[in-house]
Amino acid sequence: MDRVVIPGKATYAKVSLSDVALGAPLLSRVLLGATLPGQVVAAASTGYYMGSAARDWFARRKVRPIDFRATFGADIDHLEPQPDEARRWEVRRLGQLLNDGYTAEQPSLELLAEVINERLTDYIAAITGQEVVTSHQVRSVTLARYLMPQALGSCDPISGDIAVFQEIFPLTPHILAHELCHRKGYLMELHAQALAYLALRTSGDPVLVQAARAERLHRQLKVIQRHSDTPLGPVELLQLTGLRSELRGPISGWLAPADEAAQTGFMARLYDRRMRLSGQNGLSDYDEGFLDFLWTFTHADDPAVPTHHAAL
Ligand SMILES: [Zn+2]
Repeated sequence: MDRVVIPGKATYAKVSLSDVALGAPLLSRVLLGATLPGQVVAAASTGYYMGSAARDWFARRKVRPIDFRATFGADIDHLEPQPDEARRWEVRRLGQLLNDGYTAEQPSLELLAEVINERLTDYIAAITGQEVVTSHQVRSVTLARYLMPQALGSCDPISGDIAVFQEIFPLTPHILAHELCHRKGYLMELHAQALAYLALRTSGDPVLVQAARAERLHRQLKVIQRHSDTPLGPVELLQLTGLRSELRGPISGWLAPADEAAQTGFMARLYDRRMRLSGQNGLSDYDEGFLDFLWTFTHADDPAVPTHHAAL
């Protein structure tokens, strides 16, 4: 098997180098003024960070990325909207499947990252015939946590540095898988969402399958909430699922109250715009785009991989 190793040296540093590169110039300016020592600190940290990024970039040139349209019959610019009736049916079925397959197991973040990274490597290699080997190091604290208070995780596309801000049972494996997809070079949000789901759903591991289904279910509930003519709060939305109590609690916590569902904050609007400028459909790629992708793939004429990969 063809193999490409992305060194990801920055991900093994004791502190997040993207924070040092970003933060050191600011901090040294505050503490030292824009004097020579301040500039030396900034130049040294930025140099280390850029050195690691340059080695990764060099290795990445040999990567053969997945062609989403050819493999799944769907991509960011080729999505069939899933009918609302099918969404509601899917929500009921996901509720039953989550109830039947329930597991309370919560492996550590470190173990999950290792297992999931390997699963992603295998899933992608089965499609492209190439193993893209990446680091499975993750952090819990970076500057991004304070810059993006609503985010659950982050990946710095230059250094590949990943942070998971909150461990949220049963969703953590999906958050991790999403960020680890970015590290493997899939920078578009829809691609990271879809690959994370497909790799976890086909893993055969109850913890990973549960996370994939929980992600799909709560994204569906968010879309149903936005599409509904009458305001729906978490309680009404959860009634559509028939979920057991162990899962109701966490999932209701990720849903907005009825009167806030239509509002988007300043940071969210800014992020939506940034996504559109980079050739994506905006924040909807996380939920509606992701779900329409699975729908389009499932109904595609002749995808290169079996459509049961996108099973509920
Ligand atoms: Zn992402």
